Amino acid sequence: MSLPPLVEPAAELTVDEVRRYSRHLIIPDVGMAGQKRLKNAKVLCVGAGGLGSPTLMYLAAAGVGTLGVIDFDVVDESNLQRQVIHGQSDVGKLKAESAAATVREINPHVNVIIHNVALTTDNVMDIFSGYDLIVDGTDNFATRYMVNDAAVLLGKPYVWGSIYRFDGQASVFWAEHGPCYRCLYPEPPPPGMVPSCAEGGVLGVLCASIGSIQVNEAIKLITGVGDPLVGRLMIYDALEMKYRDVKVRKDPECVLCGKNPTVTSLLENYEAFCGVVSDEAQQAAQGSTITALELKEMQDRGDDIFLVDVREPNEYEIVSIPGAVLIPKGEFINGSALEKLPQDKKIVLHCKSGARSAEALAVVKNAGFSDAVHVGGGVLSWIKSVDPSLPTY
Ligand SMILES: [Zn+2]
Repeated sequence: MSLPPLVEPAAELTVDEVRRYSRHLIIPDVGMAGQKRLKNAKVLCVGAGGLGSPTLMYLAAAGVGTLGVIDFDVVDESNLQRQVIHGQSDVGKLKAESAAATVREINPHVNVIIHNVALTTDNVMDIFSGYDLIVDGTDNFATRYMVNDAAVLLGKPYVWGSIYRFDGQASVFWAEHGPCYRCLYPEPPPPGMVPSCAEGGVLGVLCASIGSIQVNEAIKLITGVGDPLVGRLMIYDALEMKYRDVKVRKDPECVLCGKNPTVTSLLENYEAFCGVVSDEAQQAAQGSTITALELKEMQDRGDDIFLVDVREPNEYEIVSIPGAVLIPKGEFINGSALEKLPQDKKIVLHCKSGARSAEALAVVKNAGFSDAVHVGGGVLSWIKSVDPSLPTY
């Protein structure tokens, strides 16, 4: 899929700019028109950390005319292993200020806008409105969902990336032309289920691998060249040195960008959204939760179980537990899943982390499958404790 350029060209390039960007100008697909589009582009980087560092630096070097930096954090010594936009002498300084200084040093033609604030539901719409394109380098789910929702509600594309240890992912979410983040990840994992880079570590150079994909896609969107990463998820494994891309379809049932959206404005509290499981689900899960290892033992013993994966097809395609049948959670909520369940087998449900499967478990138990269980920690636990060779997401 090719898309029209996101940005109109600037009126002209100065003589200095022509000299500076000559290696771009002689690429036929970029040329003068493409470089003028870059000059006219307004790009906001959310976060001046691991992913924000390479993205800001290469977007600046590429000649993006207006670059916004939003970060309220301060440079810490432990950032320097990967956040290469900051240096030793920046320790203790505001990240947004330090990043802006590096951007100006790389390219004085760039107009840098510093947002030295935390991105919140009160300011996100205002801040995003001033930009053509958002590059998301955040490291927490609450902000990620907020960035997605704001971008979809404003009709803006954004380039998303995420990193953990040796694994990275990237995609372009643009609801007008493809799926949004919620189409891929309808629900956040419960707090504590997915370790952050601060807890689990990250290979420093992984930031460059994923950040460079993000910059690449940003430039393609601005100039309208190539095949953008819309509707595709790029998955990078640094240990295997493998990139693969998985098709991500727009979910017609997506609560935000689907046919009948129920989320039509920002949520009041994204932290709360990223922490909730209903009381009903909690009750159903009590005493009916097995571990991934227990599931493996059941399978190895040849127990008569019916294993159901309640995630979405996109997720199932990325990684699934052997033997699992896909029946998305929505089918449990609307009741249509029940007729697909055998009466003579023990029902075992799982999802990514255990939140959605607990919700489905409540439905299944109410329907009389009293010995049904779900897998605590879901696929993530399976990967961790049974088969670490599987890709994670
Ligand atoms: Zn969506």
